[in-house]
Amino acid sequence: MTFEVTILGSSSATPVYNRNPTAQLLNCNEKFYLIDCAEGTQQQLIKFGLKASKIDYVFISHLHGDHYFGLIGLLSSMHLNGRIKPLYIYAPEAIKEILELQFKHSDTHLKYELIYFAIDASKPKIIFENNDVIIETIILNHRIPCTGFKFTEKKRLRKLLVEKLESDNIAIELYPLLKRGVDLELPNGDVLKNSDYTTDSAIPKSYAYCSDTLYDESYFDSIKDCDTLYHEATFLHEMIDRAKETHHTTALQAAQIATIVGAKQLLIGHFSSRYKTLNALLDEAQSEFPNTALALEGNTFQI
Ligand SMILES: [Zn+2]
Ligand SMILES: [Zn+2]
Repeated sequence: MTFEVTILGSSSATPVYNRNPTAQLLNCNEKFYLIDCAEGTQQQLIKFGLKASKIDYVFISHLHGDHYFGLIGLLSSMHLNGRIKPLYIYAPEAIKEILELQFKHSDTHLKYELIYFAIDASKPKIIFENNDVIIETIILNHRIPCTGFKFTEKKRLRKLLVEKLESDNIAIELYPLLKRGVDLELPNGDVLKNSDYTTDSAIPKSYAYCSDTLYDESYFDSIKDCDTLYHEATFLHEMIDRAKETHHTTALQAAQIATIVGAKQLLIGHFSSRYKTLNALLDEAQSEFPNTALALEGNTFQI
């Protein structure tokens, strides 16, 4: 099953040096989940050959403009491009009022339905579930209510050992039950041991997205043992006072968090516009957590 994330923006606050503010596109089994939607996100989708029409779900972490100012433009373009299927928006409650005000004053009547889900930023919750993925909120510590999102793959059915099934003449009608892990008793009394005919499916993976936050142990449990952790790393650690003041994290802290929670891979982003190049941020994070990568525009990471 495809489970990968493409980075559309790596900058904090303002677009600089070819870096856009935050947005990411998660592909989970060819269903597309947009995570944050900063100004310029639709241009980034076009640039990297990603189809906005495939996005059915949008998740907004908080209402600072560098995380959602691109949404009205994207929604308008979807309308102009003839979208008719609904779009689901998971975001702070006020997003509905903000978007509707903009539609009202431009006399825009969308041809498709927007279905809003108001996120409660007071405690972690499962907010979405389908056959592929479970999505839970991560309660971050920022200047305004802010949640991250943890995407965990659903466990797949067991894999059939088809050659063995065929050589033992097992009826195809029994395959679905075997996939579910059941031992079967045949009419003649024989028992088909599931483990003889199937193997376990892959262990489900998880992706934790932590947008804007102060270093705060209270959310570490929510991201424990994630396979890939995206964490903001707005500043170098020499700017720790500024990070605390603005409720952001340093590259070193992001790496320390990855170590503490047992992540396998760390992606860092949301870089301050003061950094023209990013090597120092990467070096700082890798000194603590070697498997760190810069979450840069156009890069796709397997979870
Ligand atoms: Zn931000
Ligand atoms: Zn913010």
